Amino acid sequence: MAEKKQFKAESKRLLDLMINSIYTHKEIFLRELISNASDASDKLYYKALTENISSINRADLNIEITVDKDNRVLMIKDHGIGMDKDELETHLGTIANSGSFEFKNENEHDDIDIIGQFGVGFYAAFMVAKKVEVISKKYDSDQGYTWVSEVSDGYEIFETNVNNHGTTIKLYLKDNTEDENYDEYLNQYHIRDLVKKYSDYVHYPIKMDMTVSKKKEDSDEYEDVVENQTLNSMVPLWKRNKKDITEEEYNDFYKDKFNDFNEPLKVIHTRVEGNVSYDSLLFIPSKPPMNYYSNEYEKGLQLYSRGVFIMDKASELVPEHFRFVKGLVDSEDLSLNISREMLQHDRQLKVIADKIEKKIQSELETMLKKDREKYEEFFNSFGLQLKFGIYNSYGMLKEKLQDLLLYYSSKEEKLITLANYVENMPEGQKEIYFASGETREKIATLPQVELVKDKGYDVLYLTDNVDEFCFQMMRDYKEKPFKSVAQGDLDIESEEEKKELEKTNEENKDLLTAIKDSLGDKVVDVKVSSRLKSHPVCLVSSDGVSFEMEKVLNQMPD
Ligand code: ADP
Ligand code: MG
Repeated sequence: MAEKKQFKAESKRLLDLMINSIYTHKEIFLRELISNASDASDKLYYKALTENISSINRADLNIEITVDKDNRVLMIKDHGIGMDKDELETHLGTIANSGSFEFKNENEHDDIDIIGQFGVGFYAAFMVAKKVEVISKKYDSDQGYTWVSEVSDGYEIFETNVNNHGTTIKLYLKDNTEDENYDEYLNQYHIRDLVKKYSDYVHYPIKMDMTVSKKKEDSDEYEDVVENQTLNSMVPLWKRNKKDITEEEYNDFYKDKFNDFNEPLKVIHTRVEGNVSYDSLLFIPSKPPMNYYSNEYEKGLQLYSRGVFIMDKASELVPEHFRFVKGLVDSEDLSLNISREMLQHDRQLKVIADKIEKKIQSELETMLKKDREKYEEFFNSFGLQLKFGIYNSYGMLKEKLQDLLLYYSSKEEKLITLANYVENMPEGQKEIYFASGETREKIATLPQVELVKDKGYDVLYLTDNVDEFCFQMMRDYKEKPFKSVAQGDLDIESEEEKKELEKTNEENKDLLTAIKDSLGDKVVDVKVSSRLKSHPVCLVSSDGVSFEMEKVLNQMPD
């Protein structure tokens, strides 16, 4: 006898939210159902292993998808552990251990979209189906049962004859509306794409009948034939042994997954085991994406849990200063139900993020040391990001990033590190000299630059707007302060030259005072300078904001 039952109150609430949800990612229902099928197969396989049940073969544990266009039914079938009557009742009648629901309770704002961010589990089926049937037989049991629900009037459970253990989920798709075409879940190509997108690496074959066009034997004609195909590849690239993966495979994977025409500059593939275990596959692009330096660009890594795709662009996984890094993380220690909102508080995730940051950092340091040419290529693309990293953190990231910076050296006529600069400082030089301008050529013609170079000192040429701001945040490198050649006193004269200069200033005191008075507010001071060699005039700003910085500040919108 069928018994009609109501859902538990909280399950009902989540269901209501889900059904009325305008959420656009309804398609994730498939991921959820496949993931349940995979879990159920895992459970049975585990039982077989631990209890030595020889009749259970891993090879039989596939997941079958069937499309019934006439009745508008989509079916997902597994040969896993199955559920008995009690289990159907408790697992599907209540929200099982749902992190999403607790979150919903704490945050009573009606942000329906949040739902889509969760692994919503079995109930996701109701986003696309008006009626759901679960036909199941538990392994070792003689009786099968059907659980059926059309949501609003609760659910029923009744006995059904089922031959084999396992579970079949039948989704009676909703009627199409103006906004939503549920028929797309009957399209075998679309289903195949969804499986590839969300469940490619589920480690059981996901099979479906596909219609394919085939050349007839002994004829040039083609005919449609139905082929039972495995839709998923089952082994994720990142789970494979590094030694067996070719550069081409990495490159293809990157280009395909992250929509880039260019090969990645660097691939970083790691397996970490410990308190938190994970695989990560990271890529440094060779060129910034078109929208990289705009608000449109979203940083983050793809997140997987045990091979099941959870979310795209989990931004917590990469720090802002390495936001150019693309890739993914797969951890068996993360819950499938983790939400974007929960990411920020997840301790495991924090550990992973820290390790990833360190890894990127050390990879860049190694590249700088071992493959300077490649590093310069990297720096041309993303050096600006590192400088912004220091600037935006008010210098907090100085220690981490300062040795990754490159600047053009007037002496070496190439890019050098700050360490290079300091190593080559002649005895007696106390500061790191730099000059800013639009281009290296323009900077080279500055009178102040000429003077400093004449003294045998190297001058760094800064051409990025952020450069001076960045130096200001850093203040110094290895206790050598940064010093603009265009600002304040350079203090590079010898004692004799200083005395000479003082004398000249003293002798011309009246003249200088007269000039200063007549210029009034326009200047801070008027001095006789030793700055000029072959140039008749030069502009010098007082300490603080330099002319170049003033220019940048003036360009900024208010
Ligand atoms: P979760 O998978 O996170 O536990 P779900 O809402 O997806 O949450 O599923 C609830 C429960 O229902 C599962 O824990 C499992 O016990 C049971 N279940 C769902 N689908 C199946 C299935 N195909 N085979 C066996 N049990 C299932
Ligand atoms: Mg589930």
